[in-house]
Amino acid sequence: MKHTLIALFSALLVFSCATPTREQSLVDRAVTAMGGADRLAGVNTVTYKGTSKQWEPEQSDVPGGEARFANETTFEGFIDAASRSSRTDYVRNFAYPAPRTFTFSEIVTPEAGFVLGVDSNGRNAQNMKMTPPAHSMSGLRLATTQRELRRGGSGALMLAMQRNPGKVQPAADINGQPAVSFEGFTVAFDPASGLPARVRTLDYDNVWGDVTYDVVYSNWRDVGGFNVPMTRKYELNGRMIQETSFTDVAFNRPVDTARLQVPAELRADAAKPATRNVPYQWVIRRQFIGTYLDSDNVSYDTRATQGLRLQELAPGVLQTQGGSHNSLVVEMSDHLIVFDAPVTDAQSLWLVGQTRARFPGKPIRWLVLTHHHMDHTGGLRGILAEGGTLVVGQGAGPHFRRVLAAPMTRNTDLPARSFHMTPILEVPESHVMSDSAGRQVIVYVMDNPHAKGMLMGWIPHAKLGYVTDIWTPGPPLPAKPNPGLVSVVNTVKRAGLQPERFAGGHGSVDEYQKLTRLVGQ
Ligand SMILES: [Zn+2]
Repeated sequence: MKHTLIALFSALLVFSCATPTREQSLVDRAVTAMGGADRLAGVNTVTYKGTSKQWEPEQSDVPGGEARFANETTFEGFIDAASRSSRTDYVRNFAYPAPRTFTFSEIVTPEAGFVLGVDSNGRNAQNMKMTPPAHSMSGLRLATTQRELRRGGSGALMLAMQRNPGKVQPAADINGQPAVSFEGFTVAFDPASGLPARVRTLDYDNVWGDVTYDVVYSNWRDVGGFNVPMTRKYELNGRMIQETSFTDVAFNRPVDTARLQVPAELRADAAKPATRNVPYQWVIRRQFIGTYLDSDNVSYDTRATQGLRLQELAPGVLQTQGGSHNSLVVEMSDHLIVFDAPVTDAQSLWLVGQTRARFPGKPIRWLVLTHHHMDHTGGLRGILAEGGTLVVGQGAGPHFRRVLAAPMTRNTDLPARSFHMTPILEVPESHVMSDSAGRQVIVYVMDNPHAKGMLMGWIPHAKLGYVTDIWTPGPPLPAKPNPGLVSVVNTVKRAGLQPERFAGGHGSVDEYQKLTRLVGQ
């Protein structure tokens, strides 16, 4: 009996070795189609050049409308397999939010990441301090960059899957293509060629909740016996947001590893890759428009400030300060009004905690979003979980109805729940919110160049206006008025208001007279 069992067990072992699983067969076929395991294992260096274009769907002009073209980039770089490190040099020409060019390099090792040069208008304190400008990546950015490098390194990814068959698990087909899962990726294969066709991650987007993020490989070329996808299209929930074209790829050319060196100051405080709660979409897409703040707290620069605080601007009127994006809170007789829900639900939960402590028994009854852009709305669920009404400008209602109906099970800040019953109020021209004591807060739709349906807030008892993105009160005004600044003055005039100050969704608070002097009225 014992011998029979051993014999049977041995037979099963032989059987399982001889017959690869469906998943292993898909991986084996892909490795062969890409040049074979020996060739892929013999890669010491990869050098590359190419171009990319990026679009940002949640910075559109119209809520839910066409994605905003963000930038066009040329890049050149290399991977050194021995040190598992890479360097990529970028020249990024932005079209949005303003035309400008950033020239910078990214150096990524398994333990740390570095940025040489300026790659954002939201530079952190270290980047501003260093000469020439440079900083070590936050753990959030490092983890994101490492993930995306891995997704882009198609051959190395297939080889890793072949070498770790126990981690290659069954997955549902994607668009009729057989797929497997591996370490957070779902890889779908082209049934005709056997090549990998698509690499998916299941991400969280602060606006759209649970999303799929895919790279779709195409334009396969033979490069010295390696089969390389020269074109990669990146899709967010099926919508293309990035296209990368390699113009030049070579294997095992000599590389100058001295170009992986960085100043000792950067190495000294470099963060390790974050291992949990990485807001991949925020990190990836704020870079698309050159506004990413590279910090391990996405709301503020951990190297520059102690964190967020609520600043009282007038009795019962408070503004979030200390971070990159603000809210405004107005106290009414038995409730609160909040303007804007920026960045994340974590920031919103912080705000809710602050308001509960300061104004016990006064729930947030109204959440007013000045406009639909992701950086000022990404915390809407954290505020609306209080049970209030969402107030948006004319035309934005259907967009937010869809947003609030989207599943949000991968939200790391809030437990999953349904927001589809949240009341939404669309403001046609203006809307008055008042309390039993007669205090009023009014919102006005603005004719403006930044976003359709933009709202301005007006707090009469404080003679205070509130705007986001079209004027940043606090920092010096530009030398000449721009259309955004003019639209603030025009809205004030049209509504017949007499403001003394304005607070902003960025910046702090400033005298309204400075603006009227500039605009010349
Ligand atoms: Zn905006």
